[in-house]
Amino acid sequence: GTTVPTTMRASVLLKQGVVEMQERPVPTPGDGEVLVRVGSVGVCGSDVHYYKHGRIGDMVVTAPIVLGHEVSGTVVSVGRGVAESRVGDRVAIDPQVPCRQCRQCKTGRSNLCPFMEFYATPPFDGTFCDYVTAPSDQAYTVPDSLSDESAALLEPLSVGLWAAHKADVGPGDQVLIAGAGPIGAMCAQAVRARGATDVVVTDFVDSRRERITSFGATRALHPVADAEEIAALRADAFIDCSGATPAVLSGIGSTRGGGTVVLVGLGAEEMPLPVQLIATREISVTGVFRYIDTWPRGIALTTSGAVHLDDMVTARYPLEQVEDALNADSDPLSMKAVVVVNAPEGN
Ligand code: NAD
Ligand code: ZN
Repeated sequence: GTTVPTTMRASVLLKQGVVEMQERPVPTPGDGEVLVRVGSVGVCGSDVHYYKHGRIGDMVVTAPIVLGHEVSGTVVSVGRGVAESRVGDRVAIDPQVPCRQCRQCKTGRSNLCPFMEFYATPPFDGTFCDYVTAPSDQAYTVPDSLSDESAALLEPLSVGLWAAHKADVGPGDQVLIAGAGPIGAMCAQAVRARGATDVVVTDFVDSRRERITSFGATRALHPVADAEEIAALRADAFIDCSGATPAVLSGIGSTRGGGTVVLVGLGAEEMPLPVQLIATREISVTGVFRYIDTWPRGIALTTSGAVHLDDMVTARYPLEQVEDALNADSDPLSMKAVVVVNAPEGN
């Protein structure tokens, strides 16, 4: 079997803007948990935000924290109650650990559990380190054909899958998506996988509009230059992945009567809404917070080729260069940075 060392490398955010490599004890898997040797970790906008601003809303970095939560790896040992046969499994981890006891958890809304533990959300450490523990049932075995990077990106794909579910997208639908960043790209692929045939994605950034047509979009439009074409849409669903007030307002205006508006973007905390239009068009407005149980579908879609994630990666960094990875977004051509904590065996 694999020998697990007692200490490991961890990239720690000491405070806003300060990252340090530390040696830390390897965690011990508890009851029902597995210990995973980390493979790849995708860099999320939230990691960047904690690094650059030291907080996201009322979630504040008050003590050193390990960032990173889009993670894949290999099971190297198991806690009590977990089959020894899991050792060696290549896995992608669903990082939401809800309490499983409260009313939200028991009524199918575990993503809204008030007692949620989540990698890289204070005070919980994340995955920019060699080893992490996870509940065994949240470490999903992935097929050999799926790369470590794709397996890690099942996390942002999950946001897209959940948004497409909340938007109730069906075959032949027209869907408008604002924002061609990683999340917009995941949403575009997710709605295509549900059968949407006209997927219009808007963004100001030329390179992002160009790229998005290989990630599910059938049309990529400029919010200002193509404003007339956007305003003429009557989409079955509008999914905001920009967090920008003008995008949300225009998107609602481009939604058909009885259509659905899904707010994924977390930008402006408040914005004025066209309530008369929402009322008279009977538009349903809903939010998205992460996802529920999307890994099995994500693995199936990625393995079958209906969704592709590898091509989304624009830069790779070793664990020693987490800080560079967190600054990768300063390159306008950057889409998704990945930290390769441990390269696949045999490489
Ligand atoms: P990103 O910043 O990479 O992408 C946002 C894109 O929106 C950018 O390309 C930007 O140019 C574009 N944009 C800005 N104004 C616009 C406008 N008026 N019209 C069209 N496009 C416009 O971010 P991302 O990583 O893709 O994430 C998107 C959003 O989703 C973020 O706000 C993030 O916080 C949020 N998010 C929410 C959840 C959730 O569970 N609700 C999960 C993950 C991310
Ligand atoms: Zn709960």
